[in-house]
Amino acid sequence: MRFCRIAYEGKEVYCAIEGNTARLLNGTPFADECQFTDTVLPFEGLKLLAPAEPSKVVAVGVNYAEHAQEMSEDTTATPLLFMKPSTSVIAHGGDIVYPKQSQRVDYEAELAIVIKKRCKNVPKEAAMDYVLGFTCLNDVTARDLQALDKQWTRAKGFDTFCPLGPWIETGFDWRDSAIQLLLNGEVKQSSTTARMIHKCDALVSFISEVMTLEPGDVIATGTPSGIGPMNRGDTVEVAIEGLGVLRNTVR
Ligand code: MG
Repeated sequence: MRFCRIAYEGKEVYCAIEGNTARLLNGTPFADECQFTDTVLPFEGLKLLAPAEPSKVVAVGVNYAEHAQEMSEDTTATPLLFMKPSTSVIAHGGDIVYPKQSQRVDYEAELAIVIKKRCKNVPKEAAMDYVLGFTCLNDVTARDLQALDKQWTRAKGFDTFCPLGPWIETGFDWRDSAIQLLLNGEVKQSSTTARMIHKCDALVSFISEVMTLEPGDVIATGTPSGIGPMNRGDTVEVAIEGLGVLRNTVR
């Protein structure tokens, strides 16, 4: 099932996508039992919001070997974590704002995990019980500032640096799905989630041993090789097989 969040009659509401329509929910898909209403809207023309409102976005660095190589970094025995602030999240269709502090802003196509239930110290075997589904994420990075700073908070944390969406897919094959990044329609990154070093279930478990994960929290699972810069006016797309396409423009 696919869940999106939309602006509707002055409110922010969740919907289940049914073909080319969207059925409003009473409440959220994070509830124990999802409550469907009788209100059905044509999907086309809906104003999509980011499909979750994470209290935090926990991101994983160098989680694909080929990307570690291009960054001249070693892969890590345990996942390398950093965070992006909730204020960096924007929706499908939103603008990535090029900050004046940077001369090099890169895309990073990533698969994102969306947490369903509050959890702490979850074993790997049970990790997926706490996941609602998956969506696309662009881990936008000020590469020059990342090189300058020992910590990545500034390079990864600007407002608009976390495009997320367009929706949450609950029935997604996280073990092996194609992931691509397109810049102005040209393929720049192309891999499969099968090439992740630390897998989704292991990531949820590992992170939950550090911090409590809340409903709507997002885990960015790392980017494959092929990273590169974006310029003002560019259109950038994260396309994941069986999930969808997250499209944003740089301004
Ligand atoms: Mg990344």
